[in-house]
Amino acid sequence: MDQYRLINRTLPYPFESLWGFLMRCARANHYRDHQEILQYALDASSTNPQVERTEIPRLATYTRNSVNELSQLSGISREVARKGREWKILGEWLSKSTFLKLRHAPICPRCLQEQPFLRGAWHLAFNTACWKHSCQLIDRCPQCKRQLALSRRHPEYCECGFDLRKSDTLPAEAEPLLIARIMTNRSDGPLNLDSACTPANQIENLACLSLDGLCHSLWFLGHHLLGNFPVSQGSALRKLDGRETRQMIAAVCWLLSDWPTRLNQALSKQIALNSKWSGDNSTMRLLGPIQRYYESHIDSCDFRFISSPYETFVRQLVKQAGIKTRPSRLDSPQLELDLS
Ligand SMILES: [Zn+2]
Ligand SMILES: [Zn+2]
Repeated sequence: MDQYRLINRTLPYPFESLWGFLMRCARANHYRDHQEILQYALDASSTNPQVERTEIPRLATYTRNSVNELSQLSGISREVARKGREWKILGEWLSKSTFLKLRHAPICPRCLQEQPFLRGAWHLAFNTACWKHSCQLIDRCPQCKRQLALSRRHPEYCECGFDLRKSDTLPAEAEPLLIARIMTNRSDGPLNLDSACTPANQIENLACLSLDGLCHSLWFLGHHLLGNFPVSQGSALRKLDGRETRQMIAAVCWLLSDWPTRLNQALSKQIALNSKWSGDNSTMRLLGPIQRYYESHIDSCDFRFISSPYETFVRQLVKQAGIKTRPSRLDSPQLELDLS
């Protein structure tokens, strides 16, 4: 039996937002909204915003596109054994929902003027600027002041009817613009990444990371080390608003501009804030959530520029305290050498 399909085919743009693509499909075929397409194509419930990678072939058939054309869209999800849920944005998999915006996402009004579709990069929680127009992304409708929901019917219109292409923009600061460029270098590059706010070698270090690695680095350096939060709260992966995200990014660029001196200062400050010196297993206790986040996400060789000064600092700490039981992370032969 023939499967039902949409009558009018809508072609996806490279790295387009899956939700934005479905909005355009819905409009071209006179559906109420994109949830209605998902209901017909996948029997999806209207409240669940996930589209699984395994459902892409069915969605491709329904929308008259190839699986390849749909697989490159941003926002597809998958479940990975022992790791949990991941989301594909700009062709890479992200491991934390904190790094994403999947119910509400900001827009660049000037990009929408050029082409009214939702860019996949706007799903990235730490992307707060448009690399192309050097302006801040806007996450609320200027007219009704509500967050821009991805459940709306048109990419370029708010649910209140306001034409988002007419929104005013503010110039972006140098630091968020740099991070926007590093992130969208994947979809729109190669871009010029030079910036006065961070030394060239550090920009290179950030640009070499995976998108997930970049998000973890920003979170570790900007939120855990320099965030204005008590250490106990710093460990929780919670969503930041636009202002907090820009602060976090500015903090990372500040740290990297005098590296590793400022890293050492930040670590010393965290220890002073959290000092319950007990003499054994001390780094874990003193650096608490910072050390735990480091061990879970930052200590692979991809993060050498962070891990080597970080471990040097921790080694000195251990040495100064004359601790006999070293934390397990410091047991590698290479590190032993420096401890002698
Ligand atoms: Zn733009
Ligand atoms: Zn509105």
